[in-house]
Amino acid sequence: MGTLIMKFGGTSVGSAAAICATAQIVQAARPVWPQVVVVASALSGVTDLLLKGAQTAADGDAHTFRSIAQDLRAKHFSVLSDLIKPPEQASVARATVEVYVGEFESLCHAVNVLGEASPRALDAISSLGERLSVQLIAAQLKAIGVAAEPIEASELVVTDGHFQTANPIETLTRAKTRGRLLPLLAKGVTPVVTGFIGATQDGVITTLGRGGSDFSAAILGVALDADEVWIWTDVDGVMTTDPRIDPAAQTLSALTFREISELAYYGAKVLHPKTIRPVVERGIALWIKNTFNPKYPGTQIVRDNGHVTGRPIHGGVKAVAVIRGQTMITVEGRGMLGVPGVAARTFGAVARTHTSVSLISQASSEQSICFTVPDSLTSSVIAAVQEEFRRELADRDIDAVTALEQVVIVTVVGAGMRHTPGISGRVFGALGAERINIIAIAQGSSECSISLIVDQQDADAAVRAIHRLIVNP
Ligand code: ADP
Ligand code: ASP
Ligand code: MG
Repeated sequence: MGTLIMKFGGTSVGSAAAICATAQIVQAARPVWPQVVVVASALSGVTDLLLKGAQTAADGDAHTFRSIAQDLRAKHFSVLSDLIKPPEQASVARATVEVYVGEFESLCHAVNVLGEASPRALDAISSLGERLSVQLIAAQLKAIGVAAEPIEASELVVTDGHFQTANPIETLTRAKTRGRLLPLLAKGVTPVVTGFIGATQDGVITTLGRGGSDFSAAILGVALDADEVWIWTDVDGVMTTDPRIDPAAQTLSALTFREISELAYYGAKVLHPKTIRPVVERGIALWIKNTFNPKYPGTQIVRDNGHVTGRPIHGGVKAVAVIRGQTMITVEGRGMLGVPGVAARTFGAVARTHTSVSLISQASSEQSICFTVPDSLTSSVIAAVQEEFRRELADRDIDAVTALEQVVIVTVVGAGMRHTPGISGRVFGALGAERINIIAIAQGSSECSISLIVDQQDADAAVRAIHRLIVNP
C-alpha cells in the first residue's frame, strides 16, 4: 500500500457533522496508507452562491453580492463554531474566512464597476469556495490529532489559460505537485488540497469546470503515481440511475472504464467525465464511495477485459442517464446529396464557435444531419452553420437549418448490450408504452450505449420507463 487520494464532494463537507465524518474517514485511512492526500470541494452550494454574486454584480446589482458575502460568512462561521474547540485555532480560522470573504466582496465590487464578469474574474471568484473549505477541513483534522495542512492547488496544478474549463499541463503539474507535496507526505502530513482550481504558468487562478474536483483528484493521482483514487460523495456509488429521478435506483458494484465514461459524459453527475481516463490509463484503482455510509464498499471502476462485470442486470443494460437543456439542430435538404463534405463543413462551423456537440445522428439518405448542443449556445451555432452554407441555402440545396429547443438526451449504458439482441426494441417499447415520443436516436460506436432525444417534459418519465427495464426485468 502506498499513496491514496481521497476526494470529498460538497455534501461531504457541507456541514460540521459532514466535516467530522470526512475527518474520521481520513483518520481511519492513515494507519493503512503511508501517504494520504485529501482533495476537497467547496461546502455544498457555495460555488453557486459565489457565481451568483459575480453574475448579479456584473448585471449592475451592487447589493446581492454583499448579502451573499454575509451568508458566506455566516455559513463558514457556523460550521467553524461547531467544529473547532481550541479558542486560538478558532480565531485563526475565523480570520482566514474573513480574508477570503473580503476578497469575494472586492472582486465582485470590481466586476460591478466594470459591468462585466470576464471568465478570468469568474474563476478568481468561484475558486474561493474551495480555498475556504480546505481551511475548515484541515483544522478539523488537526483537532482530532491528524497532521494536516491546507494547500491551494494553484501551487500544484498548472493549466492553460482556458478560464472556466482549464486543461492541466501534465509535465509542469507533475513537477510542482511532487515538489510541494512529497516533502509533506514524507513527514506524515496529510495535505488537504483545494479541488476544482489550478493556475496558469503565470500564477493566474483558473478552474477546471463545474464538478471539476473529481478531475483534480485524478490529476493529483497521476502526478503522485498514486495507487488508488477514492471519490467520496453522498450516494453509495454509481447507481442504475440518478436516485433523485427514481428512488428505486440500485448501486452497481463495478463498471468498466467505458461504461462509466459514457454515463459520466451523458449526464451522470456522480463523476466528472474527465476524471476517468487519466486514472484508468495508468492503472490507478478508482472507487466511488459514500461519506455517510463508509462501511459500504462502493463502486469500483475496472478495466475493459471483454467480460461483462457486475450483477447480471437485464440484457447487459446497467444504467440510464440524462443531460438536460439541449437543443437539437437539423441541417436538411434534398440537394444535400450532391453537396460534398456537408458533415465535415457542418461540424467545422460548430467547432469554430468552441461548442462541443453531445450527440450526432444522420439519416442514411444523407438528407439530414442532426446534432445537439447546449441551449445557451443555440443562436451562435445556428449563425455559424448558416454562414458556412450561405451559398447552398441561397441555391436551395440545403432547405433549412432549424432548431428544436428544450430537448434532453437520455442514454442507456451497458457493455453487455452488444451481446444482447433486441435491447433497442425493448427500450423503444418501454417508451412507446408511456406514449413518449422519440425525436432522434444515436448508438455509440462501441455499442455500449444508445442515446435518445426526447422532449424536456418527458425527461423523467423516459428515464423511469427505461430504468424499470433494468431493475425489474
Ligand atoms: P459531490 O458534491 O460529492 O461531487 P455530486 O452532486 O456532484 O456530488 O454527485 C453526486 C450526485 O450525483 C448524487 O447525489 C446523485 O443525485 C447524482 N447522480 C446522477 N446520476 C447518478 C448515478 N448514476 N449514480 C449515482 N448518483 C448519480
Ligand atoms: N465546487 C465546484 C462546483 O461546485 C467543484 C466541485 O464541487 O467539484 O462545481
Ligand atoms: Mg461532483
